[in-house]
Amino acid sequence: MYELKNHMEAVSRQALKEYMTQVTLPCTCERCVADILALTLNQLPAKYYVSLKGEILTQWESQTRPDQAKVMSAIVRAAKQVEKTPSHS
Ligand SMILES: [Zn+2]
Repeated sequence: MYELKNHMEAVSRQALKEYMTQVTLPCTCERCVADILALTLNQLPAKYYVSLKGEILTQWESQTRPDQAKVMSAIVRAAKQVEKTPSHS
C-alpha cells in the first residue's frame, strides 16, 4: 500500500528532460539517459519519503523545491561523463 520514493529522483528526471530540450546530447538512447540520471543522483543527497502507492504527487512533494542550480550542475557533470565514457559503443 505504501512505497518509498526519492524526491530527488523525480526532480532530476524533470530537470534532465528540460536539459535535453536545450542541449543536444551525442546519444539520447534509453541506456545513456539512464546512465546520466544514475550519475546525477549519485552526486545528490537522496530525499526519501513514504507515499501511497499510485499517488502522483504528494502535498509535501509539490511544496518542496530542492536547489535547482545544484541539480542542474550535477546533470551537466553526469552528461559530460557519459559523453566521454558511454556504456555502449
Ligand atoms: Zn546511448
